[in-house]
Amino acid sequence: MKTELFNAKTQKENGTGVAGRVIRAGGLVVFPTETVYGLGANGLDGEAVNRIFEAKGRPNDNPLILHIAKKSDVKPLWKHVPDIARTLMDAFWPGPLTLIYLKSDLVPDEVTAGLDTVAVRMPEHKTALALIRAAGVPIAAPSANLSGKPSPTNIDHVLEDMDGRADVIIDGGPCAVGVESTVLSLVGQPTILRPGGITKEMLEGVIGSVKVANAVLHPLGEGETAASPGMKYRHYAPDCDVIVAQGSPRSAAAIINREYAKAELEGKNCMIFATEQTKSYYKGKKYVIIGDRDLPGTLCASLFAALRDESEGTDVIFAEAIPAERQGLAYMNRLLRASGFTVLTD
Ligand code: AMP
Ligand code: MG
Repeated sequence: MKTELFNAKTQKENGTGVAGRVIRAGGLVVFPTETVYGLGANGLDGEAVNRIFEAKGRPNDNPLILHIAKKSDVKPLWKHVPDIARTLMDAFWPGPLTLIYLKSDLVPDEVTAGLDTVAVRMPEHKTALALIRAAGVPIAAPSANLSGKPSPTNIDHVLEDMDGRADVIIDGGPCAVGVESTVLSLVGQPTILRPGGITKEMLEGVIGSVKVANAVLHPLGEGETAASPGMKYRHYAPDCDVIVAQGSPRSAAAIINREYAKAELEGKNCMIFATEQTKSYYKGKKYVIIGDRDLPGTLCASLFAALRDESEGTDVIFAEAIPAERQGLAYMNRLLRASGFTVLTD
């Protein structure tokens, strides 16, 4: 397939106009959002949705998120709109919060992987909103990566995975949040199935106590079923090993320096994900600064791009664990999965 590439800045109307028609005709469009790039299709057309699964190599039992351009567009997609959803939509939409509730008959089973619930989000990114409006239908979209790889947050990483697999790609530059949306189930007690830019603390400030699904920070136990099907798959895996060091910044750095030296003796190429606070511990070693430990959103913003860029020619990446608070919960969720839960503690 020949992929048509548009630039969101210089070919604004043209790009979303063409892409909107492609979506209506059952095709695939990669588009920028504030979280990560999405691979979209007409969310009301089961056959078009199936093409997403094929293009990504995504298991069919992992449901997709429907993206809408205005709050009232959620109405026909859910059985009804519960009061708590209205409160959350008013507080956080448009933005990186996906809400799960009972689906209506309009939503095809291909989107929900046969579940009786559907995930919906209104993104904030102007190009994403313009595309959804141009398409005139909700857009079903997972992240625009090949299944299992880190989600793409810039156009180079999109092209790596999706050139030749989508009809249209819209280049919107780097994504601001850098990790996928927070997924909150509103069936029963509000539960975070996947943490993201809208934090547990922010949600609790509006609706009170919110649960966090066990699978967010822990590998699934034998025989345990995931509240969210996506949680059971290996995710965000770069082309090298990732090892997480747990402890205070000083002791995490000590673990990393010790393991780095050992790995180097074995002839391995090593890389460290350092932070502003810890970079001085790693003098003489290969490291990149991926953000500020006190501003975990900065770590989220660069994690996926760093996993892709730094895994090239690298055998092992060492990264510090940070407290799983605020955006740190999303960061640790992605980092632990990228490492296959390989954690070293003193
Ligand atoms: P992605 O499309 O890659 O951003 O992933 C969407 C995430 O939301 C995956 O982890 C899905 O398993 C999860 N998800 C989507 N719809 C539902 C649903 N109806 N119930 C539970 N989890 C869902
Ligand atoms: Mg994904």
